[in-house]
Amino acid sequence: MSPEDLKALVRTVPDFPARGIQFRDITTLIAHGQGLAATMDHLVAYASKADVAAIAGIEARGFIFGAAIAARMGLGFIPLRKAGKLPVPSIGIDYDLEYGKARIELDPGAVDEGGRVLLVDDLLATGGTAKAGAALLRQAGAVVDHALFVIDLPELGGGNLLRENGIEVSALMQFA
Ligand code: 5GP
Repeated sequence: MSPEDLKALVRTVPDFPARGIQFRDITTLIAHGQGLAATMDHLVAYASKADVAAIAGIEARGFIFGAAIAARMGLGFIPLRKAGKLPVPSIGIDYDLEYGKARIELDPGAVDEGGRVLLVDDLLATGGTAKAGAALLRQAGAVVDHALFVIDLPELGGGNLLRENGIEVSALMQFA
């Protein structure tokens, strides 16, 4: 299936989680067996070009794609977790969302000093989440110069924000 076919499997939910926001919902994409398999094929093809030693994913939807990419490539997976979930001393960063605030945390022991890590999430909007994820991974000693998304919303400027922070951005599909 082409990225255009896969885009047709993404459901758009109006006014979620707040009025005026068009939520791009991947539930319908990952419920489709062939769609999920083709999505993973495309993501692994992108990830293979990045020459990385590990894959990091952002909780929760970044785990779905990030861990599957890592398994397919025989690489380790680094979870960037929501606040308060890790059972060991962790480092964390607070950041602003398109709608609200959030915090992600990382076990620095999961990161190899100087290793190149590919950051994965389902969707890039303002870029605040991915920028925070990259900052946290860098704080733990990783090199982060590539990020990979299923969906990019280019009008929200996340791609530019990440590029300004030294991160090359790839995405399977875009929604205007
Ligand atoms: P950003 O920080 O780039 O503004 O927002 C991206 C983060 O919020 C990602 O972790 C993503 O999962 C979530 N997000 C924001 N808007 C949407 C949306 O329309 N659909 C989905 N699936 N996730 C979204």
